[in-house]
Order: sequence, then C-alpha cells, then structure tokens
Amino acid sequence: MLIDGFDRRVDYLRVSVTERCNFRCQYCMPDKPFEWVPKENLLSFEQLFSFVKIAMDEGVTKVRITGGEPLLRHDLDKFIQMIHDHNPRVDLALTSNGYLLAPVARKLKEAGLKRINLSLDTLDSATAQKIVQKDVLAHVLEGIDAALEAGMEIKINMVPMKGINDHEILEILQYCKAKEIVVRFIEYMENSFANAAITGLSSDEILKVIGTEYDYEDIGLQKASPSHYYRLGDGYKFGIIEPHKDDFCSSCNRIRLTAEGYLIPCLYFDEAKSIKDAIQAGDFDRARTILKEVVRDKPEKNRWSDPENDEISSRAFYETGG
Ligand code: SAM
Ligand code: SF4
Repeated sequence: MLIDGFDRRVDYLRVSVTERCNFRCQYCMPDKPFEWVPKENLLSFEQLFSFVKIAMDEGVTKVRITGGEPLLRHDLDKFIQMIHDHNPRVDLALTSNGYLLAPVARKLKEAGLKRINLSLDTLDSATAQKIVQKDVLAHVLEGIDAALEAGMEIKINMVPMKGINDHEILEILQYCKAKEIVVRFIEYMENSFANAAITGLSSDEILKVIGTEYDYEDIGLQKASPSHYYRLGDGYKFGIIEPHKDDFCSSCNRIRLTAEGYLIPCLYFDEAKSIKDAIQAGDFDRARTILKEVVRDKPEKNRWSDPENDEISSRAFYETGG
C-alpha cells in the first residue's frame, strides 16, 4: 500500500500518454507549438505498462489515461487492453477532449475502458472556436453520443471563464441532466501557460448561477473524487472541483506519470522524478523505489488555496494531464 507523509493513501495513477493536443484551449496551451517533446523521448506503451503494473502491485486501483489529447496516440486501445488483461478489476478511465472519439469509442470499451471524462466548455460553435481556436463542437458532441452508445460511464468537465462561457453554466448543466450524465465544473487553475487574460469563476460564483434556476443540496466531498457534489431537487447530482478551497488536498489520492516518464506528486508544483532510465533498463526494483519516494514526498497542499501566494504555477496541464 502507498501512504504519503500526511497519511493519505495513494491508490490513483494518472498516466499522460502524450503532451500533444489537437486543441489550443485558452486555459491550457493557447500558444503551442513552441516545441514538443520529440516522439523518441516518450515511453512506449510497453514501458508505460511496466510501470503501471508496478503501481498496481503497490496498491493502485484506479488508472486514468490522459494527455495532452490521449486519442492522438496511435493504438491507445492496445495500452488499455494491456492494463485490463493484467487486472480486469482496475478502475480504468480516460480523459479526452472527445474530438477523435466517435470512431473509436466502441473499440476502447471492448478493450476494457470503463469510464470517460470529456471536456465540454460550451454548446455554441463560435464560443468553442474562441476557446479552442478551432471549429470542434460537432465532433465533440458526436464523441459524447458515441461513448454513451458504447455503454461507457461519462462525466463532463466544464471550466467556466468570465465573459467567455460563464453564461452557459445552466445550459451545460441542462444538457448533461437531459442525457443523465454527471457534469463537474472545474475552477480555473492559474498557470503560466494559460492566456493571462482569463478569470475563472469560484465555486461560490458557479453555485450562485445554478441557484438562480434550481434549489440544490450540498452533499459534500465524495470518497476518492476531487469533486464536491451537490444534488438538485429531482435527485440529479453535479460536482464542482474546487482547488482554491483549503480542504481540497486533504483527501488527495493521486500521483501522475508523464509520457516522458516523470512521476509528479502534485499538479501545482514543479517537483518530479524520472522512472524512465529504470524502466528502460528493466530495473523494476529501482522504479518501485522511485515510486515510493515520490509518494513519501508528496506535498501537503497545492498553493492555489493559499491566499498569501501570488506565484503562478509553472506546471503545464497538457504535460501532467490535468
Ligand atoms: N485533452 C484532454 C481534455 O481536455 O479533456 C485531457 C487533458 S486536459 C489537460 C484534462 C483536464 O484538465 C480537462 O478537463 C481540462 O478542462 C482541464 N484543464 C486544463 N487546464 C486547466 C486549467 N488551467 N484549469 C482548470 N482545468 C484545466
Ligand atoms: Fe488539449 Fe485538453 Fe489542454 Fe484543451 S485542455 S489544450 S484539449 S490538453
């Protein structure tokens, strides 16, 4: 079992399979490309899987594949199948922007993918074009429908931003409610790669908008989830991911692996240790030791929740997978 220095059990590994993306979201990588990591520097699926296996042996029960855009990586279903075949009980999930999903949704499900989180910041094509810098909405909506048809459990992620898409909070909620999909609103996390002009909405501001139309009940933080959940009068549940709240990190159960083999203990900080050499040399004991060190040194809290902090995180979301 992996327990960090603050007595939190780490049982969730997020694996970013690529930092590359076909979108240029304003809050993530509006100005790419500067330079991508050359493809030959990335770990192969076999190498990533060698590490995932070690993590599962040490008590990881949930693996989420993310990016960049993970569906850009060729043969992703084969990676999913490797993890599923090793342990069919692992909670195997994907986070994607959905653009390339429709044609492969069924294949991913058959390979063992159980759940998928899809980003949907707007239902308006022109706004999508403004956020992503490309005309993407129709493909994304097709991807959502294809995942539903394939029988996958879906959650939608929306990052509300002032003056950009905050007028669509209710619309996105209603879209998800009609499809019986859970939506999670994510507080924008300031970082040095994002468009500096963005202002996010706080969880209280998001709730205020929802409260203009619905009564809701606070049902609190759910086990092993970063979301604070709320329930409408008719039983529909939605979440808000609140990294600016002081208690957000108290139940953090996750670490992150990048496509280049860096293990990252916290989304906010630059600290990371590479398992690449160990995995490439087949030295799995060394990789296991690094995993334990990274868990041991996991920071207590991010610094978005610290009102005194005016530093901006220089950790790129497209590298860590959010
Ligand atoms: N490309 C995929 C996608 O967009 O879903 C997976 C990677 S993306 C980095 C994972 C999640 O991080 C997405 O839900 C995205 O909205 C979120 N994200 C990225 N940058 C963010 C930021 N600055 N603040 C809050 N959420 C962010
Ligand atoms: Fe790509 Fe996801 Fe970042 Fe948007 S949030 S640029 S879709 S990695």
